[in-house]
Amino acid sequence: MNTIPERYTQSAKQLATFSNLLYQKGFADANGGNLSVKTDEDIVITTPTLESKGSLEYGDMVITDINGRYLYGLKSASSELSSHLAVYRANPKARAVIHSHPPYVCSYAYTKSTPLIEASPETLIWTGEICDITFIMPGSPELAKKLEQECINRHVILLRNHGLITWGESLRDAWWRTEVFEHHCKICHLISTRGDIPVKLDEEGIKRLNKLRDDLLK
Ligand SMILES: [Zn+2]
Repeated sequence: MNTIPERYTQSAKQLATFSNLLYQKGFADANGGNLSVKTDEDIVITTPTLESKGSLEYGDMVITDINGRYLYGLKSASSELSSHLAVYRANPKARAVIHSHPPYVCSYAYTKSTPLIEASPETLIWTGEICDITFIMPGSPELAKKLEQECINRHVILLRNHGLITWGESLRDAWWRTEVFEHHCKICHLISTRGDIPVKLDEEGIKRLNKLRDDLLK
């Protein structure tokens, strides 16, 4: 096994920063969650399998090609790398993928309910239409195939009985989508504990916010 070449050090360091943040925010328990970034040359830098995201350093990262073939790193890649690769294949603009288990998102993912996205301008802009995937074995070719078919242009993917995948044109964007969606799920949960229900924005507002998102994503 080979250490990571110098040219990938900066991306690997950024990946370690967001991995640590994922753990600190409580979005990844034990060895849960995995993150990756893709370069313009279709090289994928990803977190290793069976490691806490709280203590990862850049030298722990694994580098593969876009087909998941090992290139560099001292550890084995995440077992869920195939899901990341499926997201990259489906969305040529994607440069980062984050998979996590945030508690409020999971409180919806473990049921049949979905929080009302159109209740919040911030959520509507950052998440857009949610991709909702019924449970398929994590890391399986079946899940990768389903993701590749379903997540085209949809940045937030709710994995039923499992967790969350978000992607973006940068790690920051993928992270913000994780954070915004968890925050939204928390607020919707709080509303439900009062026996109340969120109010949907009016159609004109939704139309303008959707246009604003489309403009931002150009
Ligand atoms: Zn998972």
